[in-house]
Amino acid sequence: MGSNPQRLHVMFFPFMAHGHMIPTLDMAKRFSSRGAKSTILTTPLNSKILQKHIDTFKNLNPSLEIEIQVLDFPCVQLGLPEGCENADFLTSNNNADREDMILKFFLSTRYFKDQLEKLLETMQPDCLIADMFFPWATQAAEKFNVPRLVFHGFGYFPLCFAYCIKLHKPQKRVASSCEPFVIPDLPGNIVMTREQISDSDEGTEMGKFMLEVKESEAKSSGVVVNSFYELEPDYADFYKSVVAKRAWHIGPLSVVNRGLGEKAERGKKASVDEVECIKWLDSKEPNSVVYISFGSVANFKNEQLIEIAAGLEASGKNFIWVVRKNKGDNEEWLPEGMEERTKGRGMIIRGWAPQVLILDHQATGGFVTHCGWNSLLEGVAAGVPMVTWPVGAEQFYNEKLVTQVLRTGVTVGAKRQVKGLEDYISREKVVEAVREMLDGEEAEDRRRRAKKLGEKANAAVEEGGSSFDDLNIFIEEFSS
Ligand code: UDP
Repeated sequence: MGSNPQRLHVMFFPFMAHGHMIPTLDMAKRFSSRGAKSTILTTPLNSKILQKHIDTFKNLNPSLEIEIQVLDFPCVQLGLPEGCENADFLTSNNNADREDMILKFFLSTRYFKDQLEKLLETMQPDCLIADMFFPWATQAAEKFNVPRLVFHGFGYFPLCFAYCIKLHKPQKRVASSCEPFVIPDLPGNIVMTREQISDSDEGTEMGKFMLEVKESEAKSSGVVVNSFYELEPDYADFYKSVVAKRAWHIGPLSVVNRGLGEKAERGKKASVDEVECIKWLDSKEPNSVVYISFGSVANFKNEQLIEIAAGLEASGKNFIWVVRKNKGDNEEWLPEGMEERTKGRGMIIRGWAPQVLILDHQATGGFVTHCGWNSLLEGVAAGVPMVTWPVGAEQFYNEKLVTQVLRTGVTVGAKRQVKGLEDYISREKVVEAVREMLDGEEAEDRRRRAKKLGEKANAAVEEGGSSFDDLNIFIEEFSS
């Protein structure tokens, strides 16, 4: 145990991508709020992103302990571009060699191993919660008798889904890539197609890396999950009894952010003034605004953005649309005059949106999402129905949770992992999905279910809730 024998000391080590850093910081805050000391390891540029938020948190809670340890990451020496300390750097552009660079970025993180070992030795934390993408962390922690926990960043459903796919390979038994099949063993008769599956070929470098990830997870002390029991009870049970040795669910993590400042400062600096944004939302009817965002990684081509723009315009609905562009970038993706024509009912945010702030506002009536796990859970916690528009990775699995299990969303009809022009969703489909989400009797049913789930999400982290209790169990176990 660290310096104070009463206080649990948890070391957190997030992968350097917003979808991993944001929930890790929320998790560190949650542990600190329950009396633990939290230390987050990250690189110089990422530490700046986290520090501002930590300062806000500490101002609100001066007695709580949370700090950053900065690690060296010499990008150029590692064969990466200068300043490439976050996946954001690589995914902002559609570079031809992007895939190679992303793999290099993943593999470069091995450079942290010696630094991690030194910190484990000197700081002697009670446990290390390290990202799934740091498979070498299990061995490093073992050296110093520190239990290593894995954080994937996503929930039980996609974890069980991936497990069943790996084990049974049902995609190999269908005649075509678009033939539907049921995932064997997975509760709920979930239907899928081969072209929606994300499974790296074991012969590729990425495939070998993912194998390492699996092996290190099997040797770890367990898994910490950003979820809550009531969201996915069958999958929580399946995961704990069949897939993993130990798992603790302590989410939804995003709801640890209560005030306007905390909600607005997650991840990068928002490209819109949060007060202006709230004022704009305040001027709209409850449940009347569609929020549309594809997370921090997905990057559509201009042709697709034009379809989204035209669809939002034709829908006649209020909207806030986040586009991963910077102010000053060329605007070939925006139909001429569209912003003028939708003035007053539409807001386009170029860059980064204060997502949770927008989702939690009563005017927000639906969320068009790429189904990244954080976004999905933030939508659930806000109690809003969704249009599901998965793009890649495990997002197609998450979509099935929303549309087939929770029944709080409708699909836009994305058929496969986005690779080329043929995958485009037309403006007509955008209009149809948005209207289906907001209007009509079935929409009301979905909204009711979503609201109920949102209440359960918030109750889960309150005293006596399922996630509150699981965190207690975790703290007790690793404090002793
Ligand atoms: N996010 C945000 N503003 C943006 C885009 C993303 O605050 O403009 C946050 C979002 O709230 C979520 C995270 O970034 O917490 C994205 O994670 P997710 O798992 O949804 O998707 P990913 O970016 O990993 O694909």
